[in-house]
Amino acid sequence: MTAQPSTVTPMMAQYLEIKAQYPEALLFYRMGDFYELFFDDAAAAAEALDIALTKRGKHLGEDIAMCGVPVHSAEGYLLTLIRKGFRVAVCEQMEDPAEARKRGSKSVVHRAVVRLVTPGTLTEESLLEARRHNYLAAFAQVRGDCALAWVDISTGAFHVMPLTAARLGPELARLAPREVVIADGDEADLGEIVAESGASLTPLGRSAFDSAGGEKRLCALFGVTTLEAFGKFSRPEIAAMGAIVEWLEITQKGNLPLLRTPVREQHERAMQIDAATRRNLELTQALGGGRAGSLLATIDRTVTAGGGRLLERRLSSPSRVLDVVQDRLASVGFAVDQSRLAADLREALRRVPDLDRALSRLGLDRGGPRDLAAVRNGLEQGEEVAKLFGDADLPPLLASAAKGLTGHDALLDLLDQALVAEPPLLARDGGFIAPGYDTDLDEARQLRDEGRGVIAAMQGEYTALTGIQSLKIKHNNVLGYFVEVTSTHADKMLAPPLNETFKHRQTTANQVRFTTVPLSDMETKILNAGGRALEIEKRLYDALKFAILEQSGAIAQVARGLAEIDLSTALADLAVQENWCKPIVDTSRALNIKGGRHPVVERALRAQSGAPFIANDCDLGSENDIWLLTGPNMAGKSTFLRQNALIALLAQMGSYVPAKSAHIGLVSQLFSRVGASDDLARGRSTFMVEMVETAAILNQADDHALVILDEIGRGTATYDGLSIAWATLENLHDVNGCRALFATHYHELTNLSDKLDRVENATVTVKEHDGDVIFMHEVRRGAADRSYGVQVAKLAGLPEAVVVRARVVLDALEKGEREGGSRQKALIDDLPLFSAMPPAPVPVKTSGASQVEARLADILPDALSPREALDLIYELKKLA
Ligand code: ADP
Repeated sequence: MTAQPSTVTPMMAQYLEIKAQYPEALLFYRMGDFYELFFDDAAAAAEALDIALTKRGKHLGEDIAMCGVPVHSAEGYLLTLIRKGFRVAVCEQMEDPAEARKRGSKSVVHRAVVRLVTPGTLTEESLLEARRHNYLAAFAQVRGDCALAWVDISTGAFHVMPLTAARLGPELARLAPREVVIADGDEADLGEIVAESGASLTPLGRSAFDSAGGEKRLCALFGVTTLEAFGKFSRPEIAAMGAIVEWLEITQKGNLPLLRTPVREQHERAMQIDAATRRNLELTQALGGGRAGSLLATIDRTVTAGGGRLLERRLSSPSRVLDVVQDRLASVGFAVDQSRLAADLREALRRVPDLDRALSRLGLDRGGPRDLAAVRNGLEQGEEVAKLFGDADLPPLLASAAKGLTGHDALLDLLDQALVAEPPLLARDGGFIAPGYDTDLDEARQLRDEGRGVIAAMQGEYTALTGIQSLKIKHNNVLGYFVEVTSTHADKMLAPPLNETFKHRQTTANQVRFTTVPLSDMETKILNAGGRALEIEKRLYDALKFAILEQSGAIAQVARGLAEIDLSTALADLAVQENWCKPIVDTSRALNIKGGRHPVVERALRAQSGAPFIANDCDLGSENDIWLLTGPNMAGKSTFLRQNALIALLAQMGSYVPAKSAHIGLVSQLFSRVGASDDLARGRSTFMVEMVETAAILNQADDHALVILDEIGRGTATYDGLSIAWATLENLHDVNGCRALFATHYHELTNLSDKLDRVENATVTVKEHDGDVIFMHEVRRGAADRSYGVQVAKLAGLPEAVVVRARVVLDALEKGEREGGSRQKALIDDLPLFSAMPPAPVPVKTSGASQVEARLADILPDALSPREALDLIYELKKLA
């Protein structure tokens, strides 16, 4: 859109100039108490927010579309827009409109964009999920070497990791960033991977990824001359971190957040889990999408936001470093043993506010008095927690967490004296500094309040003077303070002698309003004193903020310590209440679990039917590496597979596990795949996906990997599927040499255990009772004798006629199989099953003759053994 000065108002010219700098964002243009949107922005926002689209003046002869949101409720609208994938440039008035008027009537208030709001750069409490990180990531490639950096500006966390392009997908799945910055031109290669992770994509000019420029930006940000103080970073790592800082500079308009020094992560130190496995095991999100029903939701007993975020981090990234796992387990173990202390700690932790996020808002100058109070309350609770520990002999992680909690007396005293107990939200309203803290402020407030008292007293005086009992002194924003009487008294007030004291201001339908000299004098005094009080409070706010920011490092350490203590005690609480055990973790290849349970299924059963969960054992890595699990549908195969993967994962994140005992040899990689038809919801060529994912496992799994495969090969015709499952199993056994649990309904595979010496058959037991199956959910060694598909179908409510018919066909097929493949083919031809369904046997007893006929129509004489033929004769006799 080109602006033509002659027809464009100065304000519109300003708008268009600013908007031109943010073509990709909606421009929130501040006008008084509203953010207004114009043109296409207005149309898009009105639709997304479901608010009215109006018009305001004309531009080049066309109506200007407009909509607006009130400033005081803008956050909610922002959230909706960001969730719907928009970016928003917030443009503020940078001066008092009175200033602009002084410059001349045509002058426009100076405005500037103060912030570009994107999904990865949120800091407001209402825009964030308390228990989730809000990561912004950047991926850089420098001559074939790549790195990923990520920050959470709402907590200050800053990380970087070298990685190959192929690992980008899994890492994004782990971190679940909200926004990923890549270099312009890389969209074709990376766009899909980023989209798959659910993050929003931000291409940025290539110069932002220049490592020399990046180093400069990082050094400036951290006030150092070289980055080496923080470790040795490769060029792609610096490029990725530099791009993040560049994007923060652009979005925050130079007001950079408080970031901690970058921590380098090595992916070898974490259990590798790819995106499909995370989805499948429903680690942080259930298949339906939400948090409810995920492992995270089931085990989360943390009581602080910081603890909640730490739990998600640990669960998303279990360790494979033995010392790290042992240290975490020792902390949980301490809290399990010291249950009284742990309960007291949890009580104290419940009052801990979100220190990290308060600090970050203060750092970005987006905070308010409540953030000051959050720091005070957090430090106070930190002392409280430290006191509870006393001189207990703490395991290393807890000891270092406790160490940073004390020693903040000076800041704490300052905040304690300065702040009221529960300050209001906004600094500009005042009222957050405690009385007695600042004498000037106290004086100003006293004047202001006394003035109010004097005015109250004046009302009495004036009533006496006029003899009008209903006289009131009131206040509004237009008139300020005024004397009000009903119209009936107007004449009296307007005549001498009263009109000497009372100056007429306004007549309304029923009232007449006056002012007096002492009243306006008093009003000026009150206004001045009130304004002065606000000014002093604002100054004190800034001073307190600086006092806090000076100690931001130490405060962040308190936050980290409290999160660690919260997590340890929360996991201990879970372990005690749910009867979990401390796993033995070492570097062996064991996966020996006694009495293991699936925490999510167990809880669901308890909530739904109260039915007990049947605990099961699993033993891999000693005699056998692979268990081949058969059993009918619904028997509990998937549950068993997943529970063992989850137990390994929980152990390595440092938690107790749902089992009687567990011995876990550190798992390097965890893979979980489900046969295609369970995955329909994702709406892809499912068999292809299944094969691509299986290929990934066979290509990657090492001998410390744990693989669970559920009904692989199901997505294609029987023999194809069987052969693929067969070959996959052989490869896992011979080539990958990993630990694996393999569930299948191909009974033919059970023969493989004779051929492959580290494969063992296991089955989930069922009982048959009167032709029905009863699921025992009990896993034992050995192969299932049959699949009970027909019985399960019956349980599912298939019409009786179809069930009966299915049984007949099954009998025929099984018999055919016993007698050789070609016979089977002949039988299938005999059974007109695949062309058209013959009329099903009629189960209702109409007459003896028709039932016998129906039964006879069903019989394939060639398929009957002599014994079956005899049985049939008895049966027919009964029907006759
Ligand atoms: P499969 O994979 O064999 O089809 P699932 O693992 O999906 O079977 O289990 C089916 C249902 O059986 C589960 O939703 C759960 O309600 C129940 N179930 C599974 N395992 C157990 C168990 N060990 N104890 C009790 N109920 C179980």
